[in-house]
Amino acid sequence: MSDKDKQPLAASASTQSEAESADAALRHIVDGFLHFHHDVFPQQEELFKKLATAQSPRAMFIACADSRIVPELITQSAPGDLFVTRNVGNVVPPYGQMNGGVSTAIEYAVLALGVQHIIICGHSDCGAMRAVLNPDSLEKMPTVKAWLRHAEVAKTMVHENCNCANENESMHVLTEENVIAQLQHLRTHPSVASRMANGHLFIHGWVYNIETSEIKAYDADKGCFLPLDGSHPIPVATPKARF
Ligand SMILES: [Zn+2]
Repeated sequence: MSDKDKQPLAASASTQSEAESADAALRHIVDGFLHFHHDVFPQQEELFKKLATAQSPRAMFIACADSRIVPELITQSAPGDLFVTRNVGNVVPPYGQMNGGVSTAIEYAVLALGVQHIIICGHSDCGAMRAVLNPDSLEKMPTVKAWLRHAEVAKTMVHENCNCANENESMHVLTEENVIAQLQHLRTHPSVASRMANGHLFIHGWVYNIETSEIKAYDADKGCFLPLDGSHPIPVATPKARF
């Protein structure tokens, strides 16, 4: 098996030239599919046969829709391993405010699939976080503006509690605070709250750095983000079980 075949996701992540035409963009995607269908799929046929009628993912992964974040690639997961939901800003609306796609996916992952972990993953250079800091940029995008109200609490947190020296620092703190805010929203979902309370579900808040590939994870006990570097216990955002 060549390195290319071992990492089909990496193989498709070529750099897109600025002048790429619509035809060329589509051709690239279809060529990628044909490579997968003819060369990659046959090598993993057993796995796909097993997955054809059932799934039992290790975790639910809630990430930003940003094209540079590929949950399966950065966690080296295979098909069937992660139940992924992605949206602008890795947002989780609080329960009862909006019975949309994210809430539906959470309920399904917890109650139907029985996942034991939910990971909310933000990232560096997030366009959604930049827009939260500069709301004027959203004047012509009323839907994005309305959606990002779910990140408003993080913005207030930064403005009122952090003497950030520049926009880069504000972005860094806002991105972490947004992950913490979405973890709090996640806990308002009854299915999540109940299984966390009886010790069957664990929640995690991560921030992925696109430039370095490092991840920092929120440690709820210590109240800070710590590197996920394999040399320390894995930081978790789950409070103690009560039942
Ligand atoms: Zn983003």
